[in-house]
Amino acid sequence: MTEMNASFKLGGILLSKERIHERTAEIADSISREYDGKRLVVVGVLKGAVIFMADLVRMIKDSVDVRMDFMAVSSYGDSSTSSGAVKIIKDMDTFAEDEHIILVEDIMDTGLTLSYLREMLMARNPRSFKTCVLLEKPERKKAECAIEYRGFEIPDKFVVGYGLDYAGKWRNLSDIWYVTEG
Ligand code: 5GP
Repeated sequence: MTEMNASFKLGGILLSKERIHERTAEIADSISREYDGKRLVVVGVLKGAVIFMADLVRMIKDSVDVRMDFMAVSSYGDSSTSSGAVKIIKDMDTFAEDEHIILVEDIMDTGLTLSYLREMLMARNPRSFKTCVLLEKPERKKAECAIEYRGFEIPDKFVVGYGLDYAGKWRNLSDIWYVTEG
């Protein structure tokens, strides 16, 4: 995660709610086609993915039997020296074996969180496992991690809104903003 010592204010809109809505509908269409007639467990990573996931699952067609589950994680150590080890604060409740699972994340920065979770959940032998990430910062990528459903690639800027926070703030904004110092 980008290091944040200074105080920040909203800079400008990077992705409008209309663009987010449009892209989310496209992803939901792909998911609806792929999981037609199947049971699908959509697992959101708290808290950042909540708003995206809430919109996404409502756009998936009724021909998919959608279930919702959540995980909460935190990374060990400070943000600048991320070891890639992830502490599970809350695990998903679903017994993963034999389920089709899509893990939903707000943003992939270095990719360490997602690659850790992917490995951990794959070890539980789900019937299938895919990841859905709203935002990806390709410039920051350290860990290789497959993303099957991707919203947007964004530049290396710290962003907030639509579930993403800065020190707990701004998750409720409808658009995605970049922040500036000041
Ligand atoms: P990674 O393990 O990929 O480096 O870290 C991913 C996590 O870092 C995200 O789930 C999110 O909590 C946080 N993060 C990374 N970049 C940003 C950003 O631009 N804005 C916000 N709000 N969180 C970010």
